[in-house]
Amino acid sequence: MRVGVPAEIRAGETRVAATPETVKKLVAKNEVRVQAGAGAASSIPDRDYEAAGAKIVASAAEAYDAGIVLKVRSPSAEESGLLKKDSILIGLLEPFNAAQLEGLAASGVTGFAMEWLPRISRAQSMDVLSSQANIAGYKAVVLAAAEIGRFFPMLMTAAGTVKAARVLILGVGVAGLQAIATAKRLGAVIEASDVRPPVKEQVESLGAKFLDVPYLTDEEREIAKGTGGYARPMPADWMRRQAELVHQRATQSDVVITTALIPGRPAPKLIKEDTVRAMKPGSVIVDLAVEQGGNVEGIERGRIVMKHGVKLIGLENLAASVPFDASALYARNLFNFLSLMLDPKTGEFKLDRTDEVIAGTLACADGKIVKRG
Ligand code: NAD
Repeated sequence: MRVGVPAEIRAGETRVAATPETVKKLVAKNEVRVQAGAGAASSIPDRDYEAAGAKIVASAAEAYDAGIVLKVRSPSAEESGLLKKDSILIGLLEPFNAAQLEGLAASGVTGFAMEWLPRISRAQSMDVLSSQANIAGYKAVVLAAAEIGRFFPMLMTAAGTVKAARVLILGVGVAGLQAIATAKRLGAVIEASDVRPPVKEQVESLGAKFLDVPYLTDEEREIAKGTGGYARPMPADWMRRQAELVHQRATQSDVVITTALIPGRPAPKLIKEDTVRAMKPGSVIVDLAVEQGGNVEGIERGRIVMKHGVKLIGLENLAASVPFDASALYARNLFNFLSLMLDPKTGEFKLDRTDEVIAGTLACADGKIVKRG
């Protein structure tokens, strides 16, 4: 089978869906075409792909002329026009965006939306949301450290003592855990909050303090468990009590990093404008949920703005700002996923709809949407 790797064209997208490492594995049984310059923004020159056995093609049309197309971002309408009917498309296909999904289905491709990968142990090596959230969590802390006018670690110098920065992390999934670990390495004092009960132990094991918002009803306890590893929207009363505690802790913090998401829904608002107003001048907030509407009132997508003396960082797609490693991990995730469907002996593609990892990720096939977000 021919595998195509087009260059990403979305503004700010620096990642690429295959690396020389994954190309080398694929060429054993397949022909691999990489569009010239596809790896450039990830510091991967064409010659490295060539050395791994890929054929470098000059145009996007030639890269899309393949039975299997590996992508980072969902193709634009123009790119979709290049997709061959009945080809296999694997990438972040935005399955919650109905118009996007309908467009893809209409193009006749068999599309796998990596956002929908089931969160089971067997699929961990294919989990692009986790691999990229891990990078975003790290970069959020590095950004905050670069943007704040203070040290993170406690320092005892001849000129006197410098206090450690206080960091508050809201939403402790993959990104939040990495943010805690990174801030800890830099010497900050960390507090964190999440809705899901198992998070408390994870937060404490990383040396941070968990902010407990007790569940007062069976309904709260039940919803807090989430589904499939993801959170569900919490009842209004729990959110109110959380907001009170968050307000109080945020006003004592130098840095707030928010990562709270609920699949297919706008991000929950965890920091109100009143809280921003009450924070210490010079504090920094990084909102990793900005692409889903943000956890912070007043955050501006794609920008760094000052509000009430607080720096609000709403930069998007932080994983793409660490492109070399983001591409390396993303490409491995895609290779592992694709390997599920390629016969190890012949390289032949097989769509086994009884496999829950394959079926769970399948977004469109035979000109139709298989399931909606
Ligand atoms: P996510 O990006 O969907 O959400 C980030 C965090 O925000 C979650 O921890 C969620 O509970 C939290 N959140 C939502 N609403 C909130 C609110 N109102 N206040 C505070 N926090 C709120 O989640 P994620 O990072 O993708 O992962 C969630 C969990 O799934 C993690 O525990 C992770 O370890 C687990 N996971 C398991 C597997 C697997 O078993 N294969 C793979 C990946 C992740």
